[in-house]
Amino acid sequence: MYPTIGKLFDQSVKKYPKKEALVDVSQGKRWSYEEWNQYVNRVAQAFLSSGVGKGDIVSVFMHNTSEFATVYFACAKIGAVLNPINFRLKSGEVSYILNDSKPALFIYEKALEDQVKLLFDEFPLVSFWSTDENVPEQAISFHERVLSAEAAEPAVELDENDVYAIMYTSGTTGHPKGVLHRHRDMIEQSLTCMHALQLRPADRGLTAAPMFHCAELHCAFLPRVHNGCTTVILHHFDAKQVLETIQHEKITVMFGAPTMWNMMLQEDLDAYNLSSMRFGLYGGASMAPVLVRALGEKMGIRLVQAYGMTEMGPAISFLFEDEQESKAGSAGKACFNHEIRVVKPGSPGPSNPDEILPPGEQGEIIVRGPSVMKGYYKRNEATERALYNGWYHSGDIGYMDEEGYLFVSDRIDDMIVSGGENIYPREVEDVLYEHEGVLDVAVLGEPDEKWGERVTAIVVKKDENLTELELDEFCRNSSKLADYKRPRRFVFVPEMPRNASGKIQKYLLRNTYTELSAQ
Ligand code: ATP
Repeated sequence: MYPTIGKLFDQSVKKYPKKEALVDVSQGKRWSYEEWNQYVNRVAQAFLSSGVGKGDIVSVFMHNTSEFATVYFACAKIGAVLNPINFRLKSGEVSYILNDSKPALFIYEKALEDQVKLLFDEFPLVSFWSTDENVPEQAISFHERVLSAEAAEPAVELDENDVYAIMYTSGTTGHPKGVLHRHRDMIEQSLTCMHALQLRPADRGLTAAPMFHCAELHCAFLPRVHNGCTTVILHHFDAKQVLETIQHEKITVMFGAPTMWNMMLQEDLDAYNLSSMRFGLYGGASMAPVLVRALGEKMGIRLVQAYGMTEMGPAISFLFEDEQESKAGSAGKACFNHEIRVVKPGSPGPSNPDEILPPGEQGEIIVRGPSVMKGYYKRNEATERALYNGWYHSGDIGYMDEEGYLFVSDRIDDMIVSGGENIYPREVEDVLYEHEGVLDVAVLGEPDEKWGERVTAIVVKKDENLTELELDEFCRNSSKLADYKRPRRFVFVPEMPRNASGKIQKYLLRNTYTELSAQ
């Protein structure tokens, strides 16, 4: 019989009972696998005795905490459906998700109470549990419930095809959609990452990227626990604290969104000993090759890239540390148990999986593999479109080279068409990142009477003296930018709007800075 996520946790407990399993840095607490299992069981029993069981949705609204990690496996053991929610969301956005997911239980931490208070009246059927010591009267104390529960192993029959989580997409392109994953899908994803990252029980992983996002949860946290490694949790990302923790906790592996690695690069790296790191994993968005190189040189950290999307668990391809130089800019090859194709974009309607494009030609990236979602929650039509003919249609555009390496150019919707030529913002961004005075950049299309669209670059300066003229000259002199791809306008901004997974929210930039919004 195929195991479930909870059963695999139990196996780690049996194999490594005394081994350090979990470290919560901000709370200064440590658990062995045996101790953590007791805690997980108490939480599971507290759920059951409160009437929360198999099939019920448990929303988790927290930063990275040991409570989150524990609730994760408690849900997995009793078949409750985990619903992690982005802690940066405002109450209106959380309300959108709760209206969609209709949880039985909502667990939150003190730091987020202001966002949660506004939800008490709106959701009278939801039981709100707070991890704080001072619990408002509308909520229940998480720790009190858990302390009074037994640590007995919960006895709930589960099947590999039971839904284990409902994960909302980051909403980069619109309203977040609830993605349903089954136990089996995520065990497959966990195996994929274990294999790709060659995890071993001696590994000590740092969880600094947000746990509510599937990249941290499924590519880093879950495979580590399933493999008997140690997980060190930081409440939230802070570049200095991450570097200190790598040194003090002798961290060997860590996932970070490109923006996090970029922030670490801005620190005084000579002050830290990072030699314990085997490699760093990045993904969730592209990272300019020049930044990947700088990380290798300045931090001495070898990098592995993952490419994927919530619907696939997320990872579908990896670019390994020894390929970073020879295949700079690529997202690597499909994971061992996935298949990727680049096909002619369908218009209208979904792309046909059999219209495979030759190497070098840009098209829609589609993928199939065992970690594919069951579907979108309550969105049958969107599910059918996304999973058309057994392939997940990513909405990303890219190409394969002659050797089968995948290059992700952009989202189909972000592509700029100028004078009939397609321009992929990412290639312009990669060039601009090569300028030393540029800290952050996003390239967009603006309406143009003559050419349809023209290229605009939104830039965060690293060097205060940087001018538009200088950047223009830099682009004109670049051997990598054809004239029609050259930005016709540069806009300097103090910082980029990013979602919690580190992705630049281009739609917000479009609303604020492009001439479209001025019309
Ligand atoms: P929504 O679907 O609500 O708009 P989202 O697509 O941002 O949200 P995610 O599943 O978090 O939600 O993001 C997946 C997308 O992130 C991919 O389709 C791709 O565009 C981008 N992405 C992820 N990893 C990489 C990578 N390594 N290189 C380039 N792009 C990446």
